[in-house]
Amino acid sequence: MPNNYRAELVGGFGCPVDENPTGVMEEAAFAAKGLNYRYLTVKVEPGDLKEAMSGVRAMNMRGINLTIPHKVEVLKYLDELSPAAQIIGAVNMVVNNGGRLWGENTDGKGYLTSLEKANISVKGKHVTILGAGGAARAISVECAMAGARKITIANIIREQGEELVKLLRDRTSAEAEFIMWDKSFCVPADTDILSNATSVGLYPNVNEKPDIDYDTIAPGMVVTDVIFNDPNSLFLQEAKKRGAKTINGLGMLVNQGALNFTLWTGVEAPVDIMEETLRREFNL
Ligand code: NDP
Repeated sequence: MPNNYRAELVGGFGCPVDENPTGVMEEAAFAAKGLNYRYLTVKVEPGDLKEAMSGVRAMNMRGINLTIPHKVEVLKYLDELSPAAQIIGAVNMVVNNGGRLWGENTDGKGYLTSLEKANISVKGKHVTILGAGGAARAISVECAMAGARKITIANIIREQGEELVKLLRDRTSAEAEFIMWDKSFCVPADTDILSNATSVGLYPNVNEKPDIDYDTIAPGMVVTDVIFNDPNSLFLQEAKKRGAKTINGLGMLVNQGALNFTLWTGVEAPVDIMEETLRREFNL
């Protein structure tokens, strides 16, 4: 049989993207599984996405990740969307199935997987989410689709928060409410899972934490953070002090990367190797 010297190409399009460690994690996973895949981290400026997506087709790339600022605009260039991506209205990964581009959003699924690994189900639960940006949209929609009873969105800008609540009410069966976050936020007492989906605490701002009344965190709550480059964020430290069970954002990042790996290759992802690689990259 002749050798096959052609690698399957995947990659990540974003701007800025230089410091995005996803490629290192995926390449470590390809090597561990002996797969002839390459991941290219590519700077695609705003305005150049159309040409870049033509490139995906022209070069028969197997798939791509999308990050800032392309997650919504890319929808124009896709043939199909997963049910969750249709509701969320944003895509963080694409699979090229013989020229048909299919978009999925694995951020919220990665979040749910990190809960499942800690034996936590969202079914029937009240999930309170801080923030209403991209991560909050993905997390809230996936929680609602996975059977959460109620979703509370707290945001510092009313319009964004109310828009997300309307989306949840219109497109999912979960009960949804908005709380204006204009002073120290009091966590609703019947919250089961509290999720920080804001960018507060992201490296290098590791001394910052969301402005909430931490004494309203009860010991029975599960408290989660999307921040990944300080897995022991101040937010989670404060929650731990109040006896809550905590889950960090590194697991979410690894799990969404693992899902992407499997969607591209059809092979089970070496999750431990992916996590070790990221920890090394973040000097953890
Ligand atoms: P967006 O910019 O879309 O959303 C950020 C959200 O944070 C907005 O709701 C914004 O409110 C809110 N926010 C910002 N500053 C404050 C503040 N001081 N107080 C209260 N709220 C604030 O970003 P993303 O949703 O895409 O990303 C959010 C975070 O999630 C980032 O740190 C990102 O790195 C992380 N992330 C982690 C992932 C993982 O796998 N662990 C995956 C995806 C994202 P408003 O817009 O109303 O001002």
